Amino acid sequence: MRGSLLRSLTLAAILAATSTASSLAQSDDGSRLLGALLGDTPMVRDLQTLTDEIGGRPTGSPANLRAFDWALERFREAGVDARKEPFQMPGLWLERSARATVKGKGVAFSPRVAALPFSTGTAAAGLTAPLVDAGKGAESDYAGLGAKAKGAFVLVETDELLDLDGLFREYVEAGHIERRAIAAGAAGLVYMSSRPGNTLARHNASLGLANRHPMLMMERDAAARALRLLRAVIPLTLTVALDIQSGPAYQAHNVIGEIRGSTRPDEIVVIGAHLDSWDLGTGALDNGANAAMVIDIARQIRRLGLQPARTIRFALWNGEEQNLNGSFGYTLAHAAELDRHIMASSYDIGTGRISGFFTGGRAELVPVLERALAPVAGLGPFTHVNIPIVGTDNYDFMMQGVPNLVANQESANYGPNYHARSDEFGRADLRQLRLNAAIAAAATWGFATLDLALPRQSARQVDSLVRHTDLADQMKSFNVYDAWVAGKRGLRP
Ligand SMILES: [Zn+2]
Repeated sequence: MRGSLLRSLTLAAILAATSTASSLAQSDDGSRLLGALLGDTPMVRDLQTLTDEIGGRPTGSPANLRAFDWALERFREAGVDARKEPFQMPGLWLERSARATVKGKGVAFSPRVAALPFSTGTAAAGLTAPLVDAGKGAESDYAGLGAKAKGAFVLVETDELLDLDGLFREYVEAGHIERRAIAAGAAGLVYMSSRPGNTLARHNASLGLANRHPMLMMERDAAARALRLLRAVIPLTLTVALDIQSGPAYQAHNVIGEIRGSTRPDEIVVIGAHLDSWDLGTGALDNGANAAMVIDIARQIRRLGLQPARTIRFALWNGEEQNLNGSFGYTLAHAAELDRHIMASSYDIGTGRISGFFTGGRAELVPVLERALAPVAGLGPFTHVNIPIVGTDNYDFMMQGVPNLVANQESANYGPNYHARSDEFGRADLRQLRLNAAIAAAATWGFATLDLALPRQSARQVDSLVRHTDLADQMKSFNVYDAWVAGKRGLRP
């Protein structure tokens, strides 16, 4: 079904939908590139290898090392210059195993659980404490619990996560829920999994490596059972055994492919996707699909012998899931070149249709995008949203004043599978991924070839962006605000 749909959607049909393509500089090259990407390329095979053979690849794991070696080889095999670039990870965190048992008078069951990222571990025999009903984790819920929260595992009920809006809400609320649990003196925090079908997920703990408590997610039906028992006034205890591998700062690597510009080689356009993932599933939607797409765009440009005016860097970021560390490391290592980075784009929302871009508070990017996307107008409509976005690898470029884009994608199945056991190859929409490759290539090719000037913003302009948007709140949700205030990450006036 998917294959036949793809075959029926020809390049001619897409190009016929626009009349402006021919007026674009180098449109012949652009058209050849789009045609190649819509054809039969190794992209889907790459995604399958990455997910099924290499699997989940959290930074610091053997699978992560293998994935970055694999990606380097894909670039080199395609004839694209590529290198591993080191950066510093602030600490190691990997889950080896997680077990839990709920007990009460005449009741005992062992729900499946997963440690949240940066949860502390427990003794091998586990940590046992009363399990208490913390409602939705609101201020009033903790007030109702009073002293009972102290030294207990607090169990927080969640709404089922259906879409991207629900995911953003989960991020915003999580920081507050954790802060209240710690303030109440809880021994640990247990979320009812928000995912359907008893799927587990690793929701990011907002404190990052500074967290000092066990935090976990319990499969939805078991958490509901525990809450019913507690609401029937049957006291329960929870024993949690979390085996966590942790360690000090260490070196990890991004992989950067490069196709040098012909007439403006010193000007740099970055297209990036993170290659690391969480490990309950195999990271197909987040973010193997987009990593495979970035590799394929480089491969097809090289195969066709196309020469962009500016240098294009194809970035496979590492450490993204653990506080956006790989792209941060790149902005440090390439600090001297950032004035000449005219665009850094990120793709990180699965395989839903690219419906436009977040332009990060820089309205001047919108007309450039409109010109760049003209050859793929048939895959639109595209609507660009001029707000700053925190949560993926545009962040450090944005805070360094570099023009940046995040592909805004239709929610599709991204939310329910986010960081979840169910994020597997079979969830990727392979047809849409191919169409997205054409859109991403058009955007990249446009910024790499069009006549334009996009100066870097000053520290004062970055500060103004923080003060005049909701950027500070987003930064707090993603645990990057304090580092900016301290002058350790991003431009400060
Ligand atoms: Zn991601």
